[in-house]
Amino acid sequence: MIILVINCGSSSLKYQVIDMTNETVLAKGLVERIGIEGSALTHEKTGMDKYKLITPMETHKDAIGHVLEALIDEGHGVIKSMDEIGAVGHRVVHAGEKYAHSVLINDEVISDIEDCVELAPLHNPPNLLGIAACKELMPNTPMAAVFDTAFHQTMPPESYIYAIPYEYYEKYGIRRYGFHGTSHKYVAERTAHILGVNIKDLKIITCHLGNGASVSAIKRGKCIDTSMGFTPLEGLVMGTRSGDLDPAIVSFIKKKEKLPSGESTNILNKKSGVLGISGVSSDFRDLEEAVAEGNERAALALKVFAHKVRFYIGAYIAEMNGVDAIVFTAGVGENDIGMRDIICNELGNLGIKLDLVKNKVRGKETIISRDDSRVSILLIPTNEELMIAKDTLKLVQGKK
Ligand code: ADP
Repeated sequence: MIILVINCGSSSLKYQVIDMTNETVLAKGLVERIGIEGSALTHEKTGMDKYKLITPMETHKDAIGHVLEALIDEGHGVIKSMDEIGAVGHRVVHAGEKYAHSVLINDEVISDIEDCVELAPLHNPPNLLGIAACKELMPNTPMAAVFDTAFHQTMPPESYIYAIPYEYYEKYGIRRYGFHGTSHKYVAERTAHILGVNIKDLKIITCHLGNGASVSAIKRGKCIDTSMGFTPLEGLVMGTRSGDLDPAIVSFIKKKEKLPSGESTNILNKKSGVLGISGVSSDFRDLEEAVAEGNERAALALKVFAHKVRFYIGAYIAEMNGVDAIVFTAGVGENDIGMRDIICNELGNLGIKLDLVKNKVRGKETIISRDDSRVSILLIPTNEELMIAKDTLKLVQGKK
């Protein structure tokens, strides 16, 4: 079966067409600037040059219409007609407490996603637009929703309840939800496969270190804790997000800097993290360049980032009473050799020993721990699109 995977942002849309008979990507692409001047579609048929279309796209429906045209085009297309698309898998960010699994989309599911708009005001609305557009353009094609929050729904209450008046949880759903679930699940499943061990016999710590970053503790295949919380702002230090913080700091800065309403949240989301500490960049490549030139604050930003990852690794080892595998994924996790080295440095007493030679690798699925390391350390490029396609296929085939 051929599956179209759609990931809608507020003004962008990413897609992949995957042939599930051999899990190969037939085409992928990106629409940018939806509803803004200069809308553009960049489409890439596997093995061919990129095709670019610059044309006004007012809505997500316009964008998906152009994607479908590109897919059936004689030159750069990959299918003869839209009927060849067996199902559409949509990435949806927030499902609240309602869904612990992916689901086939019907009116009730759409209404449930709408109910979670308040919890993910930037993400769920564009996800809903993508679903509505596909429903209109391909009314007979089944669709699945794959939620970022679903994998973390197995967390026990002691992991997700905040120590604030309980009524806020009951009234407003204020609790820890966790994000990047599709990625954490994918790399955990790959880990079990690579190690040749049943996932039910493993304790895994997955480190998704990208622009947004989170760590999860996965015991016997189930997430028991993760570092992001009510929103993707909690947890690790990130590219531009602060991560964990004494909450009193917010009102203190607000008062001192006389910030207008909403500005403190903006600062914590967009001007903090390694960018905030270094004043240089949110990109680790820029930071490493700055360090090489002697920039001390860039060096400090990297140290603070690594410290927080180690902090969570330690916490999750305690929570799971041990660990069998630690996995690195996403932009920094997959590519930053030096950062993996700092994170794993001097953890030998915990049985965690990185092989400095094997670690000299980027973006490749491989084991990077020493042979005498009790804990396996792995590098696994994440593949959220494939995970979405797999879940969609299972649902359409009625196996889930
Ligand atoms: P997103 O959360 O936006 O999906 P990614 O997982 O794509 O983020 O990660 C992007 C980040 O990965 C970049 O901002 C950069 O910091 C980091 N990165 C990418 N390549 C390298 C590299 N070769 N060395 C160090 N960091 C890298």
